[in-house]
Amino acid sequence: MKCKLSNESRVDKVGNGILRSIRRTKQRFACSCIALAVLCFAVSAFAGGEPLFDLNEVADGVYIALARLKHGVISNAAVIMLEDSVLVVDTHSRPSTAYSLIDQIKTVTDKPVRYVVNTHFHADHFRGNAAYLQSYPQGLEIISSEAARQSILNRGLPRIKADISRQNKQIESLKRELADTTDPGRRDELKQNISQTEQYLEELKDMLPAVPTMTFEKSLTLYSKDRVIQLLFLGRAHTDNDIIVYLPKEKILVTGDLLHAWVPYIADCYPYEWIHALEALEKFEFDKIISGHGDVIQGKEMIILWRNYLTDLMAQVAELHGQGASLQEIKQKVDLLEYEPHMGLDEAGTGLRAALDSHIQKAYRVITGDQ
Ligand SMILES: [Zn+2]
Repeated sequence: MKCKLSNESRVDKVGNGILRSIRRTKQRFACSCIALAVLCFAVSAFAGGEPLFDLNEVADGVYIALARLKHGVISNAAVIMLEDSVLVVDTHSRPSTAYSLIDQIKTVTDKPVRYVVNTHFHADHFRGNAAYLQSYPQGLEIISSEAARQSILNRGLPRIKADISRQNKQIESLKRELADTTDPGRRDELKQNISQTEQYLEELKDMLPAVPTMTFEKSLTLYSKDRVIQLLFLGRAHTDNDIIVYLPKEKILVTGDLLHAWVPYIADCYPYEWIHALEALEKFEFDKIISGHGDVIQGKEMIILWRNYLTDLMAQVAELHGQGASLQEIKQKVDLLEYEPHMGLDEAGTGLRAALDSHIQKAYRVITGDQ
């Protein structure tokens, strides 16, 4: 397959490793991504041998690996057949989940995975990289924006250590609750949660970085027989390093968390630039979107919804701040719940309502500069 790299594209071979991650949360969380993922409690990536994904073909040779939430897997992948290999977009929170998907990919093709793409630096999109390196040690390339690679090194890896600390505290908390609980059903649930969290913690302790080996600044185009795959940076958005994957012939977009079917997660975002990135996304000619979370998206309504929501969020917070309102007062006065019915729910059944406080705080920080 030919690669066409633009701007300051580069190839940089770096270390392999084994990563790990997360799972569901007992506490509410409004979205996916690293910051949420670390709140979750662990679930076996193999779920008793059951597949963790629904591998659904959305175009000839293009699949969504749709996370089966009941197994605690929250993030999707895209699996794209090439002439003599396979390209996978995003690798979930832990290698064991990625190994599980690799097994499923083998049910539809004998071709090896040659390319892995990380859409951005959040844990649930890159921590499974090592599974692909271990499974396909010959010639595998892990591709991301250069900014994503830097963020994985500078922020993604420290967050693994922070995650270990969080999981230890979570286990202590669960054990305290178990000691105070007499209800047999709840006790069984707590015991299972403790076991799963301990299992995840062990994975985390062994986790070593597997960072991108090939990066680009603005765009990278891959050619494979009749397939053209464009990797594009549309500007800072959900993070400072998101890319999308576009298949112009098949009219498929893979958007990571720049757009997905759940409530947006905005802790690491650049809201005003994200609005522009969504405007750019809206201009693509596409039939279907494989996103980081939730089922296939069709049409442009979700793009417009997110754009309008972010615009409204920033405008309302700015207006109220301009009137002298405190953050607490702004939280009471902001009126955005009209968007809730149109946004999806995450695996915990959580909608916009649960995320709104954090969204307002982020908007307030951006507008005021207060941290
Ligand atoms: Zn994310």
